[in-house]
Amino acid sequence: MTKSETLTRWDHAHLWHPFTPLADWESEPPLIIERGEGVYLFDIEGRRYLDGVSSLWCNVHGHRHPRLDAALKAQIDRMAHSTLLGVSHPTAIELARKLAELAPEGLTRVFFSDDGATAVEVALKMAFQYWRQKPDPEPKRTRFMALGNAYHGDTLGDVSVGGVDRFHAMFGPLLFPALRAPSPHPYRSESDDCGAASLAEAERLLEAHPGEVAAIVIEPLVQGAAGMIVHPKGYLRGLRELSRRHRVLLIADEVAVGFGRTGTMFACEQEGVSPDFLCLAKGLTGGYLPLAATLTTEDIYKAFRGTATEGKTFYHGHTYGGNPLGAAVALANLEVFDEERTLERLQPKIAHLAGRLEEFRTRPHVGDVRQSGMIAGVELVADKATKESYPWAEQVGARVCRKARERGVLIRPLGDVLVIMPPLSITREQLDELLDVMLTCLREVTEVAS
Ligand SMILES: *Cc1c(COP(=O)(O)O)cnc(C)c1O
Repeated sequence: MTKSETLTRWDHAHLWHPFTPLADWESEPPLIIERGEGVYLFDIEGRRYLDGVSSLWCNVHGHRHPRLDAALKAQIDRMAHSTLLGVSHPTAIELARKLAELAPEGLTRVFFSDDGATAVEVALKMAFQYWRQKPDPEPKRTRFMALGNAYHGDTLGDVSVGGVDRFHAMFGPLLFPALRAPSPHPYRSESDDCGAASLAEAERLLEAHPGEVAAIVIEPLVQGAAGMIVHPKGYLRGLRELSRRHRVLLIADEVAVGFGRTGTMFACEQEGVSPDFLCLAKGLTGGYLPLAATLTTEDIYKAFRGTATEGKTFYHGHTYGGNPLGAAVALANLEVFDEERTLERLQPKIAHLAGRLEEFRTRPHVGDVRQSGMIAGVELVADKATKESYPWAEQVGARVCRKARERGVLIRPLGDVLVIMPPLSITREQLDELLDVMLTCLREVTEVAS
C-alpha cells in the first residue's frame, strides 16, 4: 500500500472529524494536508492548494512565516509549558501587556485560555459572577442576551447563547435560555432598517427583564458562522449605547473578526466601541497554536480581588491556558503586524476584493455579496428575485467548494454561502487566483445544466 492508502485507511478507521457528515466523509478519499508555505497548502501527493479560508479563519501572515517559526523554536528551547495557576512565565506576561496596549480603551486585564469557545465561556462566567460580588451585588442578573444566528463556540454555555439551529437545536434540553434579539441581516430582513429594528427589539427585551440581564454577547460587525452576515453601520455602537443605558455588560466575541480581518486590528475600533469583555482566539497566534484571551476592565477585575478566604476567586481555568509556545508565537504575530505594516498594506487588497466582488453580484444565482475588510460571503440562491434558497439536499455550496478544490483552491462553505477569508498576507495576484477559481466553479455548478 502507498503511504496515501495507508493513511486513508487509518483515517477512515479511527479519526472522527468535527462538523463533518461522517458517511459522506467515508465515501471518498480524504484530502490529507501535509505542508504549508505562505498562502498555500500541499497534500501528501504534493498537490498545491490556495488556503482560501485561512485554515478555518485563523492563519494571518501565511504558513511557515520565518518570524513566527523562529519565535516558536526559540521558546521551545527554553520551555514548552508551565502553568499559570499560581505561577507565571515571561511570555504570558509580555503578551498580556501587549494585548492590553492594543485593545480598545479600558481593557487592561487578560485571562488566557486555549480556544475561542473557552474565551467566550470565560466571559460569560465572569460576567455572571461579577454581578454576585460587585460592591452592590445584583444577583438577579443571571440572564444573557444574544442575537439570532449567533455562534460563539461549542461548549454548553456558548451553545446556550448560540442561535444557529442546525448546530445548536439538538442540545436544547441541556441549555440555559437566552434572550434573543433578531440578527440585523440586511439581505434577509423584512425591515428597511434592520439595525434599528434589532436594536428596538433588544431594548424591548431589556425593558421586559429589568435588572435580570448580566450581559449582551455579540460578534462585532460580522456574524461569522451564520454565513458572514455583515451588520449595518452603527449597529454595534447602538448596541453599546443600549448596554450602557441599561447598565448591562457587553461581551465582544472577536474570535473570528479580530487581528485585522475586518481591516482594523479589532472590529470594535470601527465603531469606537470599548466592550466590557473582548474575546480573542483564532488569529491570536497567527494561526499557529491554540491560544485564547478574554480581556476585561479594572472594574470587573476588582470585583474578583480578594484573599483565599473571601470567596471571590474565579474558579475557572484550562490546563494549557496561556501556554508559552502559543504566547511566544502570538507575540511574534503582533510584531509582524508592525514590521510588515500588515494593516496598511491590507487596505488596497480590501479595495481590490470589493471591486472584484462586483463580478459575483452579476451572476444569476448570487443573491447577496457581503464584505467587511478581508472577509466576504457570497450567498447562492435558487431564485434571485424571490431570494429563495436552494434545497439543503442539493448541497450547492459544498459542490462549488468541491470543484474549487479540484482546481487547487481550498474553501469551505457555510450552507450556500461561499466564504472568502484568506490570510492577510495574500497578494493581489493570489487573491485574483482565488476569486477566478471561485467564479468559474460557481458558474459551473449554478449556471451550467448538470
Ligand atoms: C470559531 C469561533 C468561536 C469558537 O472558537 P474555537 O476556537 O473553535 O473554540 C467562537 N466565536 C466565534 C465568533 C467564532 O467564529
